[in-house]
Amino acid sequence: MPDPSFRMPTLFFGHGNPMNALYMNDWTRGWAALGQQLPQWPRAVLSVSAHWYLPGTALTAMAQPRTIHDFGGFPRELFEVQYPAPGDLDLVRRARELLNPAVDARADLAWGLDHGTWSVLRHVFPDADVPVVQLSIDEAQPPAFHYRLGQLLRPLRDEGILVIGSGDVVHNLHAYAWGRHPAEPFDWALRFEARTRELISRGDHQTLIDYEALGRDAELSIPTPDHYLPLLYVLGASEAGEPVTFPIEGMDGGSISMLSVRIG
Ligand code: ZN
Repeated sequence: MPDPSFRMPTLFFGHGNPMNALYMNDWTRGWAALGQQLPQWPRAVLSVSAHWYLPGTALTAMAQPRTIHDFGGFPRELFEVQYPAPGDLDLVRRARELLNPAVDARADLAWGLDHGTWSVLRHVFPDADVPVVQLSIDEAQPPAFHYRLGQLLRPLRDEGILVIGSGDVVHNLHAYAWGRHPAEPFDWALRFEARTRELISRGDHQTLIDYEALGRDAELSIPTPDHYLPLLYVLGASEAGEPVTFPIEGMDGGSISMLSVRIG
């Protein structure tokens, strides 16, 4: 029987601007603190990043995943960041087995760690000494599918694995105030973030799965689902009644929520 006191929490990170990989600010200090507050040192991380969004479910299955700089127009310093965490083929096998009732996940040898993962983990585990496997988000599947995959992955938390989602609850780049900081948050962004927070606290996952029915605020906050869906994996991996906290908050550039969620 797994010891419930050693169940790993599951974490959602609002990763925001890729430059957070380099910045020391309240958000990134908060990420570092989340790493330090884990009940035990994780055996490995399973990361669902908004930036691996394509048709199909895949797991990075290389012994040494490369660091992917999947963005343009940022300073050279950001392109020089390397995050040399090893992969974990045992975790790939175990995750494939757990996901099997819903999907035959492909073992991928081409991707690596994208900035959704490393911009955060660089602060959480700065020595890159915890193995990392990424799980892709199948863009062809409905929100309920992603929540279901999170449920199937839940046992990993009793096996020393830290399951994380990295995205943004509110992510509207058209409205984002590039280079104009600080920017006043948009009302719709604040309203949607508050609503999401309340639903997570109440454990009303069904309404969060059916977010498209939440009206205009949801449409503006989630113009495309990629940054929202990692949250559904984390919610799926949680169990009713587990403690929920929001250790990091704030709105970046008016339209990107930095909200982080810790469950367990
Ligand atoms: Zn992003």
